[in-house]
Parts: sequence; C-alpha cells; structure tokens
Amino acid sequence: MIRQYLENQDPEIYKILKLENERQENSLEMIASENFVSQAVLATYSSTLTNKYAEGYPKKRYYNGCENADLIEELAIERAKKLFNVNFVNVQPHSGAQANAAVFLAFMNANDKFLGMDLSHGGHLTHGSKVNFSGKLYQPIFYGVDPKTERIDFDTLYKLAREYKPKMIIAGFSAYPRILDFAKFKEIAEEVGAILMADIAHIAGLIAATYHPSPVGIADVITTTTHKTLRGPRGGMIMTNNEEIAKKINSAVFPGTQGGPLMHVIAAKAVSFGEALQPSYKDYIKSVIENAKVLAETFLERGIRVVSGGTDNHIVLIDVGSRKLTGALVADELHKIGITANKNTIPFDPNPPTIGSGVRLGSPALTTRGLGITEFKKIANIISDLIENIYDDKKKEKLKQEVQEICRSFPMDRFRLT
Ligand SMILES: *Cc1c(COP(=O)(O)O)cnc(C)c1O
Repeated sequence: MIRQYLENQDPEIYKILKLENERQENSLEMIASENFVSQAVLATYSSTLTNKYAEGYPKKRYYNGCENADLIEELAIERAKKLFNVNFVNVQPHSGAQANAAVFLAFMNANDKFLGMDLSHGGHLTHGSKVNFSGKLYQPIFYGVDPKTERIDFDTLYKLAREYKPKMIIAGFSAYPRILDFAKFKEIAEEVGAILMADIAHIAGLIAATYHPSPVGIADVITTTTHKTLRGPRGGMIMTNNEEIAKKINSAVFPGTQGGPLMHVIAAKAVSFGEALQPSYKDYIKSVIENAKVLAETFLERGIRVVSGGTDNHIVLIDVGSRKLTGALVADELHKIGITANKNTIPFDPNPPTIGSGVRLGSPALTTRGLGITEFKKIANIISDLIENIYDDKKKEKLKQEVQEICRSFPMDRFRLT
C-alpha cells in the first residue's frame, strides 16, 4: 500500500519509511513502552476516517456527517468497557499525556497540590515534572520507593498525604517493575479526601488480561495509553465508574483540552480492543510476564543488579551504575549491537536523567514478534556479555552477529503494510 502510493509521488518520504521498516526488522525492540500493532490496526489507522471532523461525542456532534464516526466511537467505547469491566470510557485522548491533562483540568485548580511518584523512582513526566504542565501549573509532592526494598514506601506516602492534604494522588509509573496495590492508595486517598487517579499507561494490557489487579472500582479515575502493553494504536483513554466524574472528564477532554478527535485512531483503538478481547491476548500477556521474568533471572544469575530484585510485570530495570557504567553508555552500546532500550534513572540515582545509572528493558514488543523464554535468556546473556566487555570491539562485533541471527529467525512481515 505504502509502496504503491508513495514510491513515485514522494520518494524522499518513502525511502525513510522503508529504512524504518528495516530498522524494526533488524533490531531487537526492548523499549518497555513500545509494541508492534497488527496489520488490521495499521490498515484501520490509515482509513478515510482521518478526513472527518467529529468534535463532540456520539449523537452530540458539532458537524454533520458523523453517522459512521458515531458507530465507530460507540463500538470503541463498548469494547473498552467490556475489556476493563468499567462503566464509562472516553476514547478520545490523543495520547497518555493528553488523558492526564484532561484529568488535571477536571479536578484541579491552578496551584493545587497533588502527590505523584518521583520521576527518578519510576514516575512519569505528567506526574509533576517541573518541565511539564503538571509541575508548572500545579504543586507536586513526590513519594518514592523504600531504599532497601525498592518498592513503594506507603508509610512515607501516608505521612506526605496527611501533611499536605493533596487534592489528588496519582498511582502509576513508567519504570517500576512491581505490582501496584491500588487498594492501599485508595485507603490513603480516602483518609485525606483526595481523588485517586490511577495511570495504568504501562500495565493496561496486564490488567485487561487479568494478570495485574485492576484499579476499576477502586480508583476514582483511570487514565491509560493504548499503545504500550495494550498493543493498540498510539493514543490515550480515560475510565471511571462514577457518573459525575464521567461528565467532568468528557468536558475536560472536549472542549477542555482537545478539538476534533482522531477518528481513524479511535477506529484502530476499537480494532485493537477487539484483539485484546480474544483468548489469545491473555496467552500473549502471560508470555510477556514470563519473558520479563526470564530476563530478570538471567541478569541475576550473571551478577547484574536488578532494581527491586526482579519483576512482576513487563519491565526489568538493571543497575549498571553498580558496574561503574552509566545508563547512557550501556544504552548507546546496546543500540550499536542492535538492541534498542533506554537509559533510565534508578531510585536514589546519583546521575541526572540525561545520564542515568540504569537501563530499562521491556518484553512486550519482542513477545509480540514471537520470541519466547529461550530467546529472552539468550538476549539477557548478550546484554550481560556487553556490560562485561563494553570496551571490547571484537566481542561486540560477535554480539552484534548473535543479535542479527535472532532477528532473522523472527521476520516482521506480519507487522507491516506492503
Ligand atoms: C507513557 C506514559 C504516559 C504518556 O503517554 P504518551 O502517549 O506518551 O503521552 C503517561 N503516563 C505514564 C505512566 C506513562 O508511562
């Protein structure tokens, strides 16, 4: 499709898109927030719905001609409700950050206080970073993990909540390898009269497949992305069981923070929710977790420190600072041998985020590609070998070839439009 329509008309863009296909084919994608969507999702993403303005909500649009957009959005909502067993869903947020912006707008006035997870302990930019709207317009107070267990320190969280009486508490993360106890968060939020927002951007797929406890019925409002473990198109979504909150969320998304919804993306979301409702999706998530566990276990066998001592989800955070290396160096060297991952801070990191002492690795994309525990063990050994031989060019050349061999055994044809 892309070739047919682009090769002659715009060879400059076509060439780059081809290079990107090759990059995805010839490298091992271990960025924990990425995944590969199906051809059905890709095709829907490029449908003519991109032409349609549908400001408003089904049956309450500002423009005419929305009858098909309505059907699509209603289906996306119905499927998401079934997938998460929740009463209300807004499928319009363009991204996870947009979903979070809408929640802030719905519940918080300028300068109101909220509790979020410290970025260097695994929190997200939209949970109060000073370079983000959440840290500029509101007052964040950060909780984090216990220095020994590297798991959420609920005692400190409780103390902070009582001391500052925040308007909202956010339970959620981008780099935390353990189960979140939403009930504990709720207990604290209730005691201080705070709204509990669960940001399940990373673990939405695990929750949908019932491999992680759900915040539905516990958190007041839940935000997520649709493109991480959920394996849908790039986008966001907001859920709640509370009708009053639902109304506030709808107005905060449109007209509060967005204009016209991306109807082609909402259609692709619906297709991916349909996929996630299939029994095979549960098997997929089961493998995602098994593969992450094998990664963590192999690192531990190789004497590489794993933050919190392992993983319960799809994320493995390794501490390369303990090997006198930086996250930036290891991530760059990994890239050179064909493994894509990101540098990350670890709890109490002496390095700034641009350097970091950790590398965050994830299993979702490669599990979609078809890799299993044998390959994940092999990859953990390749990464361990690299860490031990980071300045040895000959060794690195050999590791690069091993990566290429794995890539060749798992072709990517199922994940592109030709
Ligand atoms: C990825 C992520 C987001 C933001 O999603 P985008 O689609 O990149 O805007 C928000 N919150 C958490 C916890 C995330 O991990």
